[in-house]
Amino acid sequence: MSNEILNSLLKEYEQKKLRAELDLEKRKEELYQSIPQLQKIEDELNQFAILTTKNILLYNNSSLEDLNQKVENLKREKANLLQKAKLPCNYLVPNYECSICKDTGYLSNNHYKTEMCNCLKQKLLDTSFHKSNMTNLEKENFNTFNENLFSDEIDLAKYHFNISPRKNITNIKQKCLEFVEDFDNPNRKNLLFTGNTGLR
Ligand SMILES: [Zn+2]
Repeated sequence: MSNEILNSLLKEYEQKKLRAELDLEKRKEELYQSIPQLQKIEDELNQFAILTTKNILLYNNSSLEDLNQKVENLKREKANLLQKAKLPCNYLVPNYECSICKDTGYLSNNHYKTEMCNCLKQKLLDTSFHKSNMTNLEKENFNTFNENLFSDEIDLAKYHFNISPRKNITNIKQKCLEFVEDFDNPNRKNLLFTGNTGLR
């Protein structure tokens, strides 16, 4: 099930990333019409980015310094223009829901390995929790458990058990409590609930 959940979450991430980027394109288009100078700066910055990569590959450090200076000047000019238009300085960056992974759900760590971003981990937990029928814990928990709902009469013919349903459910509750209390013990065996289809 967790693979299924992850795949559908990743599809959601793809969609929201795309939405944020399309939204930025729309904002840019509108803004460039009113402030054409901004488009000029953006085009120059793009060209400089290509030149910077080329210079890095050619180990051309003196040109790199010159380029960095020009880039800084252009960025300053861009920030000034945005300020004059009373727009926030991040107006020309996509509004990702998670600025850390830019809505990709993944990050590369210091060892160049890809790892899941906390936002995706949290979403996975939330979705798994929701699907586990455990969202009603405030009402349904050990404290509100009522063994009196179970008969205290032994009915061998019906249950093939020589203890009453109440005694049986109290034993089960006790086993569950022990399981919870010992949850961090790696040697503790799992609990398995079985029954006819539809029971839970
Ligand atoms: Zn994230």
